Amino acid sequence: MADRNLRIDGQRLWQSLMEMAKIGATEKGGVCRLALTDLDKQSRDLFIEWCEAAGCSIKVDKMGSIFARRPGRDNDLAPVITGSHLDSQPTGGRFDGVYGVLAGLEVLRTLNDLGYETERPIEVAVWTNEEGSRFAPAMVASGVFGGVFDLEYGLSRPDQDGKTMGEELERIGYAGAEEVGGRDVHAYFEAHIEQGPILEDEELTIGVVTDAQGQRWYEATLTGVESHAGPTPMPVRKDALLGAARIVDLVNRIGLDNAPVACATVGMMNVYPNSRNVIPGQVFMTIDFRHPDDDVLAKMDAAFRAGVRDIVEPIGLELELEQIFYYAPIHFDEDCINAVREGAANCNYSMREMVSGAGHDACYVSKVAPTSMIFIPCVDGISHNEIEDAKPEWVTAGCDVLLHAILDKAGQAG
Ligand SMILES: [Zn+2]
Repeated sequence: MADRNLRIDGQRLWQSLMEMAKIGATEKGGVCRLALTDLDKQSRDLFIEWCEAAGCSIKVDKMGSIFARRPGRDNDLAPVITGSHLDSQPTGGRFDGVYGVLAGLEVLRTLNDLGYETERPIEVAVWTNEEGSRFAPAMVASGVFGGVFDLEYGLSRPDQDGKTMGEELERIGYAGAEEVGGRDVHAYFEAHIEQGPILEDEELTIGVVTDAQGQRWYEATLTGVESHAGPTPMPVRKDALLGAARIVDLVNRIGLDNAPVACATVGMMNVYPNSRNVIPGQVFMTIDFRHPDDDVLAKMDAAFRAGVRDIVEPIGLELELEQIFYYAPIHFDEDCINAVREGAANCNYSMREMVSGAGHDACYVSKVAPTSMIFIPCVDGISHNEIEDAKPEWVTAGCDVLLHAILDKAGQAG
């Protein structure tokens, strides 16, 4: 086991984060670094410059994901990989994604300072287009790595101007030669801000992430009859918005019935014709259910379908309902979860087990490698926002835990 007293250099990590945050910095103190833009290229170039200065060799795969490798004693052994993403939302912050990448680099810098040789090689990964903001879907490169999407699908994803990921990778010089995935990974760890309020509310420093929530996304179109808001008597109306409003309430109740873990959201609604004196004839709406237990998620689905039928029939609405996305819950690897838990215990950081409510690259990597995640708090639980913030002591703590978890899996040479 690694020396309990090993710690990373928190100040150096913080300085690197602030340096990287200058690339795409926004006026409100955030970051806008959309995938495969010139700014994304600049952040990749800087990351590679730092990794080469730390003695790493660099490989880029066909999806543009970067792997910076610090050799071990036996380089035929499968590596331990850590990482996250450098791209951001249009109104992104200074920590989402980039924290996991630079925490990985800080682990390597610390090992260099100590002259510490591991048995296995360690790699820091930068996954292309995690956010899915410029190119949908999210986490597409780690998805190809994990065998969830094929390479052609990944490269052909278009942005709003019709430029594909493949074209943009070529343009910025990051269409790499390495095959995507298909190699052994001994363990994968990803450090990330929580993007929720739980750790900060409970005054805890480390989230030991055991699971990621399963998701079911739906689209519903309710069709009634639009007619004049004055002369049309109440009993004969076929008001699509009335049905939609009752569905919003239904979705909320299903979420509360499965609290505190479940999430249930209507996020979008388009009302037609959306005129103040016309009874709405049609409503399009989206529904998003999340839960880490597939059985509960199925129960929520059943309650939803039955409830929706009971709502639309009495109003006389037609209903088109489609589940457009299903994402199975993920339980991370017990050994990797333990490595995180012991890392936090070694460093005397307060912790709790957590379920990730958001998708992360780790979710797709977990399809092909033993995986777990480390969460640190973020101020007020806010992310995907320029005011996203984290305290230096949290940033340091998560990276300390990452160091210990990696050493547990990479082993000491000799
Ligand atoms: Zn992220």
